[in-house]
Order: sequence, then C-alpha cells, then structure tokens
Amino acid sequence: MFRIFRRRARADREFRDAQRASQALLQMHTETPWPDVLGSVAATAQDATEAAVARDFLPPYFRAPSRQDVAGFMMRWDQPLVIDGEVRECPECGAYRNWVVLCMRDDSVWLRCRAGHETRELGLDAAWYNRHSGPADRWHPTLEDGLRHLGY
Ligand SMILES: [Zn+2]
Repeated sequence: MFRIFRRRARADREFRDAQRASQALLQMHTETPWPDVLGSVAATAQDATEAAVARDFLPPYFRAPSRQDVAGFMMRWDQPLVIDGEVRECPECGAYRNWVVLCMRDDSVWLRCRAGHETRELGLDAAWYNRHSGPADRWHPTLEDGLRHLGY
C-alpha cells in the first residue's frame, strides 16, 4: 500500500516534470521561432525588399538635384527685399523688386534685376536661400533657360 502510493507519487512528479519541460520547450519556440535559420532568412528577404524599394524609389531624373550637381539654384523674388532693415536696390538701375535670387554652388547669393544686372548680396547666404525657396522642381541646362522659365 505504502509502496504503491510512493510509486504513484513518483510517477505524478515525473509526469509533472515532463509536462513542465515540454511547456518550457514549447514556450521557447513560440518566443524565438528558430532564430538562427528562419530569422536570418526573413531579415535577408526584408533587406532585399528594402534595397529594391530604395533602388526603385525615384528614377534619377525625378530626384532633386543636390548642390554638387548644379551650378546654382534660382527663384523669383517679386516683392522688395529687405535685408537688415534696408530695401535692396540694384546699384546700376535702382530697381528694388522683381528680383531673381541666385544661390551658387559656393553658397554665394546674387540678386539679378529685371534689366539683368547681377550683384552679389553679402547679407544673404545659402541658409537664407534654403529657408525661403521651395524644393527644386526643375533643372535647366543654362542660366538663360532658367531665367526664361521664371519669366525673365
Ligand atoms: Zn539693375
């Protein structure tokens, strides 16, 4: 009687130990499903997909040109340009509005009046230009082509 009880107790304990072990094993695989095999395959496939997306994101002719790709950027500035409290005037013809602002690759900023006089503006820099210009939406092979596009 006592022996049977002990045997059953041991069997129960062994059963519970085995159950705990199998649950621990099951939980381990649930939390980390084959990390060395499937994980790396999934990561590789994801990386390849991301690389393909990055490569196909925008064709080169749709990408905004960087500062190294172009001689400069230009935008219209129709209203009077006030720098340090002074309205800028063209030193040659006295025009004070309808500028084309040019930001060159060397970060210098130039003002061009309607008559085509160009003056370097030391009170402005590339950071100012970038704050006030929209994204470059068009590339022009020559300065004249860009001026024509801006209506000059
Ligand atoms: Zn002028």
